[in-house]
Amino acid sequence: MSDRRVLVNLRGLLTPDPARAWAVDRIPDAALALEGGRVAWLGRKEDLPAAWADAPKVDGGGAWATPGFVDPHTHLLFGGNRSGEFNRRLHGATYQQIAAEGGGIRETVRATRGATVHDLVASGEERLRAFRERGVVHLECKTGYGLELEAESRLTAAYAELQQRGWSLDVTLLPAHDLAPEFGGDAEANACAVAEDWLPELVKRHPGVARFCDVFVETGVYTAEQGRRILGAGKRLGLIPRVHADELSWTGGAELAAELGAASADHLMFCSEAGMKAMAAADVTPVLLPATTLFLGMRDWAPARKMIEAGCRVALATDFNPGSCPCVDPLTILRLGCLQLRMTFEEAFTALTLHPARSLRRDDLGHLHPGARAQVLLWDVEEMLELVYWVGEPYRPRFLTR
Ligand SMILES: [Zn+2]
Repeated sequence: MSDRRVLVNLRGLLTPDPARAWAVDRIPDAALALEGGRVAWLGRKEDLPAAWADAPKVDGGGAWATPGFVDPHTHLLFGGNRSGEFNRRLHGATYQQIAAEGGGIRETVRATRGATVHDLVASGEERLRAFRERGVVHLECKTGYGLELEAESRLTAAYAELQQRGWSLDVTLLPAHDLAPEFGGDAEANACAVAEDWLPELVKRHPGVARFCDVFVETGVYTAEQGRRILGAGKRLGLIPRVHADELSWTGGAELAAELGAASADHLMFCSEAGMKAMAAADVTPVLLPATTLFLGMRDWAPARKMIEAGCRVALATDFNPGSCPCVDPLTILRLGCLQLRMTFEEAFTALTLHPARSLRRDDLGHLHPGARAQVLLWDVEEMLELVYWVGEPYRPRFLTR
């Protein structure tokens, strides 16, 4: 049975053009022809090819149609949450005080190590539903709150189960998210365990689940040299590098990402100009996480404009995680992209659709040109810019298909 259909009665259609870095097509009174779960044609309704004239019509209800959002940086799975710690911070406790008492990321690591695969899948699915309601149709999801082999393996198994259940997500192995308590601060020995034991074992136990690996290159965590060793080991296992880079200080993370041909370098609040040029030349996607800057009360917004001027295809992400950004809302990211990173609406929109999909090597997501997956959002607004303009409004899209 054919599933040919044409989406009509649209106020308009907004989509990035995958053939051009920052171009956004804005088509008024649009129609979208779909077949086999893919886009077959897009354009003005009056230009619909004759071959589609008899196809069943789907009423868009006068909405704007857009591709679904793609989130290229989340820490979806973890045990517990840190709202208690957050409250203590509001009452004046410093992050260092909380960490010295065994709180902070250590608390999440304890809760995650205590969680079963079943627990992780259940909470993960709840979070994925929250993302989906807000228009996110594909996510990158990291391990990293296990910090030892067995807990990292349970996280990977939970992601595999979520994929089995039909959730569209890419998995990144991040056992080098922080120094594991067992290593007593010996980053060198910890990096060695990650590169030589944990990554090979995780790939062996869970073949085909993860496509990427990642490392936190930061003062007091892993050096660029240790990052190089971990990501090199990942590459030999077929994992494409991503890097937590230049978040709290300059550590050469962007330069390392470029050297290794990484898919992305993420955070980048303290990225150097040389790092920007290197990322542009090596086609590394800078993934900026403005809600983390907001949540941590920092003022060092990532230099998005300079990166765009340097020729980078900037992407935006939530960085969903329990410590520095418990946010599942792409509209918050879109708004911060425009209001704090000084991106135009079209740039921020492209940075939440086409560019993240590209950084995940997903050519059929993040746009609505022919061949794209039919992941269409319908927005009941007069102009798409309203999503940013009515700054606190909790807009939710309607879905054409899953
Ligand atoms: Zn992160």
